[in-house]
Amino acid sequence: MTTRRKRLTSFLLALIVGLVLTRVMFETITDEIAIFGFHDIINLDNPQELPPQRRASDGDYTKQDLEQFIESLVQDNYWFLSSQELYDYFLSLNKKKIPSEHQGQKKVMLTVDDGYKSAHINLMSLAESIEAKYDKKIKFVWFINPSFMGVPGVELDHASCEELREGLTKGFYDLQSHGDHHKDLTTLQVKDLKQELLNSQRILRECTQELDTNKTIGSHIAYPFGETNNQVKKYVSKYYLSGYLYNNLTLKLGWWSKDNYRIPRVSIHSRIPVKKLVRLAAGGWL
Ligand SMILES: [Zn+2]
Repeated sequence: MTTRRKRLTSFLLALIVGLVLTRVMFETITDEIAIFGFHDIINLDNPQELPPQRRASDGDYTKQDLEQFIESLVQDNYWFLSSQELYDYFLSLNKKKIPSEHQGQKKVMLTVDDGYKSAHINLMSLAESIEAKYDKKIKFVWFINPSFMGVPGVELDHASCEELREGLTKGFYDLQSHGDHHKDLTTLQVKDLKQELLNSQRILRECTQELDTNKTIGSHIAYPFGETNNQVKKYVSKYYLSGYLYNNLTLKLGWWSKDNYRIPRVSIHSRIPVKKLVRLAAGGWL
């Protein structure tokens, strides 16, 4: 090997080692929160929720797998964040001090989109059995289309205001907006965009008024289809504190400024095994 080639090889090696070390350092000094996005939750013990009675959908996740995932998070002492907690303690410019009982805890957020009744029934039963077994309350952040509450869907029925209130009363639910009618917000004229944003907030708050003692319901939004643009951000930021995407990334917390209207979420589908979810929650890759 010529001297020149040797030098080049050592230089490249040093570069690779440098890049790996930088990455490792970055991963160790940045805190990370995985935000999982579920849709319908199906119970394998309920034939009504299985084919041929109900068509299987890619976005489904089973109650049985979700239970295993949640049990592992509970045993590992995770903090199940609400959307307001994420905002107050990690995103806001005036961050609140993390309460002592949560200091040093690993963090996770479980979100559920579209407000399906079957998801509600299975999540309530799951949250109650986890509470009975571990004496711990878990939290699901729902992103709801309020005009669909209690309305039968083309394929799946939607949970009613009464049903969602039950989850709120028991401390298992955080109720937030997913637009009023699940429209792609990027396709709307300003007037319709404002209606989707404001009506969803108003209906959710009317549904939960006396239960929402901290006034946090309908303050955060997940964009339908994960779609947003500058116009959407302009109006969302007038009425909401934060906006959630679907981009299969985890939230990295660091010294740099973040866009609270582009909070990353990982979209979960039936083919992702529990051990991958556990790894992702712990800061690994999917
Ligand atoms: Zn949706």
